This record gives sequence, C-alpha cells and structure tokens, in this order.
Amino acid sequence: MTFADIGLSDQLLAAVNDSGYDEPTPIQRAAIPSVLMGKDLIGIAQTGTGKTAAFVLPMLDILHHGRSRARMPRSLILEPTRELAMQVAENFEKYGKYQKLSMALLIGGVQMGDQVKALEKGVDVLIATPGRLMDLFGRGKILLTGCELLVIDEADRMLDMGFIPDIEEICSKLPKSRQTLLFSATMPPVIKKLADKFLNDPKRVEVARPATANVNIEQRLVEVRPDKKKDALRDILREEDLKNCIVFANRKTTVRELTTSLKRSGFAVGQIQGDMDQSARIAEFDRFKTNEINVLIASDVAARGLDVKGVSHVVNFDVPWQPDDYVHRIGRTGRAGMKGIAYTLGTRADGEAIERIEKLIGHKIPRVGAKVEAEPQAEEKKAAKPAREPKAAKPASKRAAVAPTDEPAQAPLERTPVVEDISNDWNGPMPSFLSVSAG
Ligand code: AMP
Repeated sequence: MTFADIGLSDQLLAAVNDSGYDEPTPIQRAAIPSVLMGKDLIGIAQTGTGKTAAFVLPMLDILHHGRSRARMPRSLILEPTRELAMQVAENFEKYGKYQKLSMALLIGGVQMGDQVKALEKGVDVLIATPGRLMDLFGRGKILLTGCELLVIDEADRMLDMGFIPDIEEICSKLPKSRQTLLFSATMPPVIKKLADKFLNDPKRVEVARPATANVNIEQRLVEVRPDKKKDALRDILREEDLKNCIVFANRKTTVRELTTSLKRSGFAVGQIQGDMDQSARIAEFDRFKTNEINVLIASDVAARGLDVKGVSHVVNFDVPWQPDDYVHRIGRTGRAGMKGIAYTLGTRADGEAIERIEKLIGHKIPRVGAKVEAEPQAEEKKAAKPAREPKAAKPASKRAAVAPTDEPAQAPLERTPVVEDISNDWNGPMPSFLSVSAG
C-alpha cells in the first residue's frame, strides 16, 4: 500500500515524498483513512512507529479547507512535554510545506508574548502542553469553542505527569461535535475511562511496541557492581562502532555528575535534565544533533520524545523504575532502518526491575560479558571477605548522596501491557520503508 492509496492530497504526497518515505507504516495505514473520514480514533502506539505522521498528515488535509479566526484555534494537539510539542511542530512544518496553514506552539519555558500574538491572529493548529494552555485559557487569551479536532498524544505519559484533570477540563471546553484522536503506548484503566468519556465510537488501532518488535535494536545487559558503573559506561563509550550515544540516568543529580565525570575523561558530552530551562535544553540537543557532542546524558522526562536519526547507542546507566521507560529509552536507537545497540547496566539491586522489564518485552535481555567485574553473589562476598577488617567502611553518606529523588517521582501505575496486534507487519519481514537510510 502506498501513501496515495490511503487518500492523501497531492500536496501531502509531495511532502511525504520529500521526506523519503516509501510507504506508510502500519499505524499510518490503519489510522489515516479513518481520520480522513472524520472518525474518532484510539491509537495504541508509541514513538518510533510513525504515529506522529499518522495524525499530522490527515490533519493537514482536513484543515486545508476552512479559515482560522482570531483566538480560536481550529485544532488542538496536546503533548505532555515541550520537547514532544516542538517535534510535532517540526512535523507540521515538514509535511505542511506545500500548504499554507498557520500554527502556534504553546509551551512552558519560552516567552509567552509571541505565542499570544500568533494566537490572536488566529491559527489552524495549536500545539500545546496542558499547563501552558490552561494558563492562557484562564487569562481569556484562547477560545476553544472553534476547535473541531483534538489530538491527545502520549496519553499514558500525561497520566504519569499528572495532567489528566487538565485534559478532562480542556475536553469539556471543546465543542461536543469535534473529532478526537487519542494516542497512547499503553491503556491503563484511567486512560480507558478518559477515552470512554470523551471519544465517540472510536476506531481502535493497535501496533506492536517498536522496541519489542524492532529487530534493529540489539539489547545487552551488563551485570556490574554499583561502584563500577562509571567504568562500564566509559568502556562502552570507547567502543569502536559507537557513533553517538544517549545515556539515561534516573535522577537529575546523576545526569549532572555523569556529565562532569565524562567531560573530565575527555568525552564530548552534554546533558538534558529537568533543571535546565527550555533554551538550554534546545541548545544542548542541537549540539548533539549536529555532532558537536556525541554523548548526551538525559533524564527520562527531559528526553521524552527526542528524535534524532542515527543514534547508534543507548545506555541505561540506571535501570529505569518503570518498565515502559525502558522501551521508550531504547527506542531512541534503531530508528528508520538503522541498527542500534542498547546497553543496560544492571546491579544486583536491579534484579526485580529487570524482571519486570523482561516480562513486559516478553523476552530476556541477553547478558553480555561484564565489562567490569559483576557484583559477587552474597555467598561469594562472604568467602571473599579478607581475614583482616578493611581499613574503613565506606561512609554511609555515599549512599545517601544519591538517594534523594529530585526528578518527579512516578507513582507505580497499574498498566495493561500492550497485546501485539497480529495485523502489524512491522514485526514480520522488514518493511521496505525501514531500509530508508537515515540522514
Ligand atoms: P514517530 O513514531 O512519529 O516518533 O516517528 C518515528 C520516525 O519515523 C520519525 O523520524 C519519522 O520521520 C519517521 N517516519 C514516519 N513515517 C515514516 C514512514 N512512512 N517511513 C519511514 N519513516 C517514517
């Protein structure tokens, strides 16, 4: 099936062609015709599946007819983070280059003035994070009564970030007759309830998690002692075939520490974490995109949705607390047909978290020879105990130094693992679009 077969206009076909895509991905094939027909949609898919284009492309065609009015956006896309919102905006520019649609981006951390000016002129598409949108709505700068199309993207992440009450409020301000598209990687009960309440007879489209199905990502688990994690990381970063690497840590403090430590070791390294303002994050991300630095240390929330083509390696310096985050993290590599390697550094204390991840992805992560000596088993520890007591015990403060969590803690959530849809051939023979070389 080609893009022409799914009913897109010639202008969009030209833009898609310019992007170098040969054929639609499974989520695009399943979603685009329904969206073009005006149906509500639940898309169970995550980044890496081509889901952004699955809603941006038909929206561009739907909005092509009609005119925007001051302060009344014609469509609204809700994104959980600024980074994701910016990426969707980039997608609009890329696919909408042969059309004259106006867009505004409403995200925290950047000056509000220009955003308000754009809104006052009237926009076809408003891309927003819920917090900033509610803020402007409260000040009477936006009217949502003309908004006929709503996209709630990454709904499960919205839930993690506590945005569901905001989304419910936003939904209640839009016209009832609107078209609503909801995308989520998983369908926890709260999201299902949200969908039941605000979507009208939606078509449900489900595609496999790219991380579980993506044969292009080679996963490796390195069992290592906690005090040897930095050494193990340095070893990985010195691998011959490492072009660039995103390193994930669970805490902002670890992100900062690692950045300093790797810089000292001579790596070209940058960081993205929640304490940095938006412009600093963008600048850092740009340095990574343009290869000024080839190692980017990131926390989950700050790195959400980062889309850089051709990331050769991902390293989980810490095993993520949420199994879903593992899937999100490793999905930064192995994109658009390229091979990727995802390392996870696991200590004995991570045993349970690793089990949960393996349960979710449905297979064991291959253990690779520990670069740095793995933690001895309890019995071995006993046997290895020196005859004399060591000089001094490690100060207790060493552990305390990393214990506080400064990234918003994510409450453990009840999640319904995604059942892979057999209709998704992403899992089968390699679709030809996967072989498009990434730029
Ligand atoms: P997303 O799932 O929206 O984050 O998209 C993941 C990546 O796939 C992005 O880099 C897109 O540019 C790319 N992409 C989207 N649609 C296609 C397609 N039909 N063929 C090849 N690559 C695509």
